[in-house]
Amino acid sequence: MSEKKQDAFENARSQIKKAYDIMNTDNFQEWFLELISVPKRIIELQIPLQMDDGSFKIFPAFRAQHNDARGPFKGGIRFHPDVSRNEVKALSTWMTMKCAVIDIPLGGGKWGIIVNPKELSIRELERLSRAYVQALYKYLWPKTDVPAPDVNTTPQIMAWMMDEYSKLVWEYTPGSFTGKPLSSGGSAGRGQATAQWGVYVLDKILELRNDSIKGKTLCLQGAGNAGLTMAKLMVEKWIKVIWISDSGGGIYNKEWLDIEEISKLKQNKKSVTDYTWDAEKLDAKEVLYKECDVLIPAALENQITGDNASKVQAKLIMELANGPITPEADEILAQKGIDIIPDILANAGWVMVSYFEWVQNDQNFYWTAEDIQEKLKNRILQSAENVFDRAQENKTTYRVWAFIVALERIHAAMKDRGEL
Ligand code: GLU
Repeated sequence: MSEKKQDAFENARSQIKKAYDIMNTDNFQEWFLELISVPKRIIELQIPLQMDDGSFKIFPAFRAQHNDARGPFKGGIRFHPDVSRNEVKALSTWMTMKCAVIDIPLGGGKWGIIVNPKELSIRELERLSRAYVQALYKYLWPKTDVPAPDVNTTPQIMAWMMDEYSKLVWEYTPGSFTGKPLSSGGSAGRGQATAQWGVYVLDKILELRNDSIKGKTLCLQGAGNAGLTMAKLMVEKWIKVIWISDSGGGIYNKEWLDIEEISKLKQNKKSVTDYTWDAEKLDAKEVLYKECDVLIPAALENQITGDNASKVQAKLIMELANGPITPEADEILAQKGIDIIPDILANAGWVMVSYFEWVQNDQNFYWTAEDIQEKLKNRILQSAENVFDRAQENKTTYRVWAFIVALERIHAAMKDRGEL
């Protein structure tokens, strides 16, 4: 496997190119493809931090602002030891596509800091979060660039960052960050709503395929908050979760797994392999190769690649993580007849609720969890139907059509604004 194929940014670019080559680009500016294939701006910085023991450490960090033709740059902040410049570029590209495919007036961006937050004390984490805002706040504003949580970043971190930003600009500015706790301008219904979106997408796509969600078996890779909440909601819809894995390993029972117990284990910072009911324990990656109706990769990028795609036996895959399947694997899975509900549609509930939060912060008037649910449901049904109908008409994958829908909207905005 060449390294290039594992590079998330190359993957994102090749997904754009594939859609571009298929779509009708007669009225497109020829340099659009080139422009949309790179972030508008990338900021790379070093954050020095004094640790609790008095020593100093330097944390490299990035901010990629991919595209803002449809609205402010929008996207999460990742704290992870494997963060790289190219990963952040890829994630910012997917954010632009995601916001366009669900038709919200936002662009795409992403932040990343190379750090293992589990090795920091709570005070070190707070200082690092604030230091990052101090270094970057001139590039932020609710109408310019609005970050949010991503892997390993929490509502508490968003509250610190929003607080730091508000102090620096001398104005309480809740709309500067989304994904905040309720006490600091967060949105009602966030936890449930992001997972709920995935359930709605799956339900709708199965319905459009004249199938039903009831009785389906589910394998879940990654037992983070969004994945587990979604699994709980799926169980309510009579889906059977038979496989779950986290970085410590995987558990399997062909009849069912007790999601409540697994949630408790995770809350207590344990692995799913500490599960006490009857289950087979296997290697974490094996979850990708089990026979099941629906496979949900909910961990990191590049999980299903050209090397292992042929081993996948699921009937349908829904990407809850960003970029878990490489373009090479896409081809292999398509040949095997395995459809993929792509990340930019399937996990968009996260940014959709961020959008609702940002609107509420702007108007300083807050909606109920029921309002959020209702708004969310309407948006997802429209977005899923739009992608599904066009993929059906034109016999290509959901991913390609999701990208085409997004690219058409972004091109229109760039053209009308005179950027092209
Ligand atoms: N990090 C999330 C994502 O990848 C949410 C981003 C946001 O809400 O801005 O979609």
